[in-house]
Amino acid sequence: MKVLIVYAHPNPNSFNHAILEAVVETLRKNKHELRVKDLYEENFNPLLDRDMLASINQGVIPQDILREQQDLLWAEGLIFIYPLWWFDRPAILKGWFDRVFTNGFAFRYTPRGVEGLLHHQKALVLVTTGGTVEEYGSMGDQECLIRPTTDGTLAACGVQNILDKVFYAVPVVSAESRQEMLDDVRRLVAEF
Ligand code: FAD
Repeated sequence: MKVLIVYAHPNPNSFNHAILEAVVETLRKNKHELRVKDLYEENFNPLLDRDMLASINQGVIPQDILREQQDLLWAEGLIFIYPLWWFDRPAILKGWFDRVFTNGFAFRYTPRGVEGLLHHQKALVLVTTGGTVEEYGSMGDQECLIRPTTDGTLAACGVQNILDKVFYAVPVVSAESRQEMLDDVRRLVAEF
């Protein structure tokens, strides 16, 4: 499978980077083709500003976004890796969706509602948190952590078979637990 990985963490020594390494290693071992989009490393501009919005509304897509869209069209599967920041994606990833998943490319409006235009067969969303599973469980918020990406963006745009995995309390769990999390990542990606 051709897999596009979209990675959003500014620190190359972060645990999220360890997840990225585990994903890449496992995909390569299983002979997938892959492209990695490291949004901070690429200094991706996440701002959907007035000029760009006007341009998109006139059907004119800027060159940098066309390149992103070509990578999306190339891929059959998508993997997202990011830390939870304020109950959502880091702004750079949110902005990537804002600017790349454009009307007419990723979705369109119809009288029956929004219609997804993407045809990816599979997606995996890997998220880390600072909060514990108990904290989120008791708040009944576990689904809210992930749904802006899984349902609000990917499923809305037609992506199928979306799996997610949240790794809780990453800064405070034991070193052993973090290794188990990385084993979970390898297992999930091996089944991708
Ligand atoms: P890091 O801090 O990089 O690492 C965590 C631990 O893993 C460290 O001990 C590190 O040494 C270790 N580690 C690094 N590499 C490896 C490796 N290869 N193998 C094993 N261990 C390793 N959390 C919430 O729950 N809800 C929120 O709304 C929220 N909002 C936030 C907003 C902001 C702006 C920020 C900065 C943080 C927020 N957080 C929130 C916390 C955030 O989600 C966590 O800090 C983050 O998910 C931890 O992942 P990390 O990759 O940054 O971990």
